[in-house]
Amino acid sequence: MHVQHFIDGKFVDSLAGRRFETVNPSTGQVIATVAEGDAADADRAVQAARMAFESGPWPRMRAVERARVLHRIADIIDRRKEEIARWESTDMGKPIREAIGFDLPRVALNFRFFASFIEADHDEAFNRADALFYVRREPAGVAALITPWNFPLMLASWKVAPALAFGNTVVLKPAEQSPITASLLAEIVAGAGMPPGVFNVVHGFGPSAAGEALTTHPFVHMVSFVGESNTGRAIMKAGSATLKRLSFELGGKSASVVFDDCDLEATVAGTVDAIYRNNGEVCLAGSRLLVQRGIYDEFMERFTDAASRLRVGDPLDPETQVGPLVSQEHLRKVRGYVEIGVEEGAALLTGGKTPPVLAGGLSNGNFLQPTVFGNAKNDMRIAREEIFGPVQVAIPFDTEEEAVAIANDSPYGLAGSVWTQDLKRAHRVAAGIRTGTVWVNCWFVRDLRVPYGGYKDSGIGREGGAWSRDFYTETKTVVIGL
Ligand code: NAD
Repeated sequence: MHVQHFIDGKFVDSLAGRRFETVNPSTGQVIATVAEGDAADADRAVQAARMAFESGPWPRMRAVERARVLHRIADIIDRRKEEIARWESTDMGKPIREAIGFDLPRVALNFRFFASFIEADHDEAFNRADALFYVRREPAGVAALITPWNFPLMLASWKVAPALAFGNTVVLKPAEQSPITASLLAEIVAGAGMPPGVFNVVHGFGPSAAGEALTTHPFVHMVSFVGESNTGRAIMKAGSATLKRLSFELGGKSASVVFDDCDLEATVAGTVDAIYRNNGEVCLAGSRLLVQRGIYDEFMERFTDAASRLRVGDPLDPETQVGPLVSQEHLRKVRGYVEIGVEEGAALLTGGKTPPVLAGGLSNGNFLQPTVFGNAKNDMRIAREEIFGPVQVAIPFDTEEEAVAIANDSPYGLAGSVWTQDLKRAHRVAAGIRTGTVWVNCWFVRDLRVPYGGYKDSGIGREGGAWSRDFYTETKTVVIGL
């Protein structure tokens, strides 16, 4: 298979002819060559998007007409969801049950939700005896959307759908580790009748390559980025000369805070899911497990038992719960943290090794057993840094105040969860934790109407519902003298 850029309605190779390879993380085998974009390819895509913005029909269409195209995209995604899910699993190692059960339905929903949103949207007016003021929400321009590999198509569509819905034109730069489904999306968007130049995909790397070129391009109006906090810093710097409008969804080290009055069984299940879902490669992962001392021993016994029983293996097997990590490089990084945890004196309760039962081609895959560290301290590196793999770090605490203080003692502020049956405590702790989302007795429950984003090093801005509209539109006040 060969994956190309999608520019101005056509699949094309890089101008310089360069290519890179994408690898199946379960087997180490190359599954596709991919066009490797540089600044010239990024420029071609931006110019196409600029033309489509300045003189094409898309920004000028009525909302219902744009919505019709977005609904068609969602319909095609629904029809092709099994095929797309297989590519997602094969390209980045996500268990197929998650790709089919979560990612693909959410990809379709991203398009349907913003299609419905613009159909129902309305502008505001402010009346006065001598004047009428009304507010126009106008498409803002060319959006560069730069996305990571952990939920490749789900996160790409989480940006593409609102950017398009609000009348902008787009250049998507998917992660180099998981490029395949972005090109499938291009095929689908074209098949849904999108005018050329409105949606473009440029493949390639970040620094000194296609990614960075988008962040400095004078005709890119805004950059919506999902990825590591340090990449966010680099993009902010690169975008400063041209004053890019920025939306950042960055790293996390969220706390699952477990009180001794929790529903033990539901909490074990919820907090296990919160760290091992998607192979532990989730920005929102509850990757610090704070457990009140009164139940610490019993809770950790149950948690460790549940973690060690997760089925690790071929992500295309519907029974698999934990697949391979995205790349050898990432596996090395995660294993490095297992070593650091042991050196720092945390107790390795389970995992940390390659699973023993992997046969056949899978012996070259990037697998790691679900791992649990106990009796950790919040100042250890394994508790402060984002590991982004199937590694849990448990820290005991005594009081509610201490739990909130530990949860907040982090450079990150993306999310957190509170597990208690005490309603007043749930609200107090939810208010006390300084993160963009706090779940109570649940995790990863999302609704596209609500704001999503992070405090501190976890991001800038919010997207979702009207918050996405704020980012992807310019707001103009028109004043009519009466
Ligand atoms: P990454 O920052 O390495 O890469 C993300 C994207 O940015 C890729 O497409 C990459 O090519 C591009 N990129 C890299 N350097 C760039 C540069 N200098 N200029 C422009 N583009 C550049 O992140 P990753 O490893 O792909 O993803 C994992 C990270 O993403 C984790 O930190 C995770 O927490 C975070 N994440 C956050 C959220 C959220 O909602 N907050 C969601 C998913 C992932």
